[in-house]
Amino acid sequence: MSVKAKKYLGQHFLKDENIAKKIADTLTENGYDTVLEIGPGMGVLTKYLLKKKCSIHVIEIDKESVEYLKVHYLNLTDRIISEDFLRINIADYFQGKPFAIIGNFPYNISSQIIFKTLENRQRIPELCGMFQKEVAKRISEKSGSKIYGIISVLTQAFYDVEYLFTVPPNVFNPPPKVDSGVIRLIRKENYTLAVDEKLFFKVVKTAFNQRRKTIRNSLKTFNLSDKLREDVIFAKRPEQLSVQEFINLTEKIANDAI
Ligand code: SAH
Repeated sequence: MSVKAKKYLGQHFLKDENIAKKIADTLTENGYDTVLEIGPGMGVLTKYLLKKKCSIHVIEIDKESVEYLKVHYLNLTDRIISEDFLRINIADYFQGKPFAIIGNFPYNISSQIIFKTLENRQRIPELCGMFQKEVAKRISEKSGSKIYGIISVLTQAFYDVEYLFTVPPNVFNPPPKVDSGVIRLIRKENYTLAVDEKLFFKVVKTAFNQRRKTIRNSLKTFNLSDKLREDVIFAKRPEQLSVQEFINLTEKIANDAI
């Protein structure tokens, strides 16, 4: 018996063993000895992860998949978390130890997985896995690109992102409509910002809300001094600003005297 794919859970099961192994091998196993796989499904990736030296835990929302895993992966049983990844409190797991995240992720919650990782980055030195290609590209793209946006800047502020390889639809059952892409995030040595983080997030989000306007126009609601608004950076559009320039911009805004 195998698990029947449920669309609302973003289930596309990987059929290709070589790709499963290739994804498992994207883990560097540096700086952690615990790994959490999100959405193991029938365990195609899990099988290769279990050959690693790290301790593998899985979190799966689908009860039918959980039952399948319990029957087919007997030694995994007490490391199966039968929960929704988006609803767990990370502090309740792995005794405060660092852990890596891996998965052929459910594409309907891709950005939420990234944002939850960013919020818990003190605990998560690495994330590897597969997203919709467009999302994978967006996370890894640098300034100047049309798809560079909020998720690119926020992720790259804390992680070095590498786009690794593309996976075509026909290796899944059922096949998704789009290509997939595998990426790796490695946390930067210094992953605390030199500026107020809340303000940084607000600046990035507000700037990209109107991505074709200049920063000067988009940040009107910040009530900045005329002097600051004359700064050259304010004549640029958000997609022209590197992560470091967004950090500098946040610092200037924080120090703006009105
Ligand atoms: N890794 C498997 C399955 C990928 S499909 C493979 O490669 O074949 C995505 C998996 O994520 C499904 O098993 C789905 O049930 C699970 N999933 C979806 N939403 C989830 C959530 N919020 N928390 C945990 N798992 C989830």
